[in-house]
Amino acid sequence: MRTYDHFICGPGAKGESGAYIERHSPADGRLVARFTNGTAVDVALAVEAARQAFDAGPWPRMSGLDRADVLRAFADRVLANQEYLADIETEEVGKPIRFSRKDIAGAARLIHYAAGLAADLHGIVYSGLRGGQTGLVLREPAGVAGLIIPWNFPAYVFCQKVPYALAAGCTLVVKPSEFTSGTALELARIAMEAGLPPGVLNVVTGFGDPAGEALTQHPGVDMVSFTGSTATGRRVLRNAAEGIKRVAVELGGKSANIVFADAKLDDAIDGALAGVYSNQGEVCCAGSRLLVEEGIADEFLARLGAAAARLIVGDPRDEATDIGALIHAGHMAKVEGYIDSGRQEGAQVVLGGSRLSGSGYDGGYFMAPTILDRVASGMTVFRDEIFGPVLGVTRFRSTDEAIAIANDTRYGLANALWTNDLDRAMHVTQALKSGVVWVNTIVEVAPQMPFGGVRESGFGREFGQAGLEEFTEMKSVFLTTGTRERTFGHA
Ligand code: NDP
Repeated sequence: MRTYDHFICGPGAKGESGAYIERHSPADGRLVARFTNGTAVDVALAVEAARQAFDAGPWPRMSGLDRADVLRAFADRVLANQEYLADIETEEVGKPIRFSRKDIAGAARLIHYAAGLAADLHGIVYSGLRGGQTGLVLREPAGVAGLIIPWNFPAYVFCQKVPYALAAGCTLVVKPSEFTSGTALELARIAMEAGLPPGVLNVVTGFGDPAGEALTQHPGVDMVSFTGSTATGRRVLRNAAEGIKRVAVELGGKSANIVFADAKLDDAIDGALAGVYSNQGEVCCAGSRLLVEEGIADEFLARLGAAAARLIVGDPRDEATDIGALIHAGHMAKVEGYIDSGRQEGAQVVLGGSRLSGSGYDGGYFMAPTILDRVASGMTVFRDEIFGPVLGVTRFRSTDEAIAIANDTRYGLANALWTNDLDRAMHVTQALKSGVVWVNTIVEVAPQMPFGGVRESGFGREFGQAGLEEFTEMKSVFLTTGTRERTFGHA
């Protein structure tokens, strides 16, 4: 069992309340960690540290190449600690250990990539302004950024934001989820050991309210980057509006996974499984709505159901486990409630449909991989994000109908489609309303490729050059040399 205090200019910063939040493993109920129950006073101390580091410290003033050196050392140390960090992630999140290892390796790659961006941070020069004038568009760090992280990919989402913000020269206060704060605190320690100056990266733990609230309201915070639910995102936006803060919000999703009859079905079946059962289905861009062309639907579902039934649900520390535990009791009840609502509204449960019990399951929150067939657009399970291993299946007869069904949602994070017809692939891609489209693949990200949503999935982009630019401001400089053209001519 690990006990953590806040990380403010370093580890061991005691909270004002003296109280701790206990985290029990969602797989077996063991007490695995205690996190400081942060208050608005703790947040204010962290913001003050970040403010001081931004206004007077070396980080924003260092050359991009020097920042890159620190980020590379950070990435290397994360990789060297892969096993340790993966164990923490698995204990707190309940995700299978082999996927936790992948997350940590992926997080290290993001840091490495961001190091390159730090070295390459640049603006634009216009040489053709009016006589004797050069236009410089400078990229400057946005300032102190407040970053709020959810529980499903704690280390990875941390690294979708933190290294990009550091590359830009920002200083940071991070509020991880109360359930899964371990890796954020460990990563902050590792970053400091790699050479990050004190006060540049601070982590305050605690509940969304008051700790998260205080962070979004604090006048010393220049921008907020939030990943989490659409409901909390609304609240964050209101607070940011009050303080006229820059804001980026990565919110929920209800992605369609469209399978056309001409697709390579083996790939599409594996993709459908990966789309909805990875990370217990607790994935913002999960392909939770399977749209399948009528002509192949029965065969596809039979093969998919057989493959899903072979997935191993159980102890996340076991190397063979495919699906671990859901995050907590309340979430389990929510997922079960959605399956019940699907049944009541007329969907057919063709696989799973209930919580697993018995030896190895009773101490945790394990849900059988579930498939609901005959899901119609009016049903709650079609419209709401379930965030569990529950696939809803809707059949379609034409490309236009598939596009209409896919876009019939308030969300717009990502969609996937499977076809061998390039014309159709491009046509559907252009018609889909989402920030990401996967063609013949699913639930994939790359450090270079911007990721983010439209509609109620939020706005702003992470990863890539865009991920860096989120954390910068532009300053337009009219650099005038020679004799300035007269305005009135009386001087
Ligand atoms: P929440 O919105 O409940 O929480 C996200 C974070 O916000 C947590 O750190 C939480 O703290 C904090 N928080 C809660 N209330 C407030 C508040 N009033 N002010 C500021 N911060 C607050 O989401 P979950 O943690 O439940 O994560 C699951 C959701 O996140 C899903 O809907 C999913 O789609 C979405 N998500 C989106 C992603 C994307 O990239 N678009 C990626 C991952 C998840 P605490 O834990 O203490 O409540």
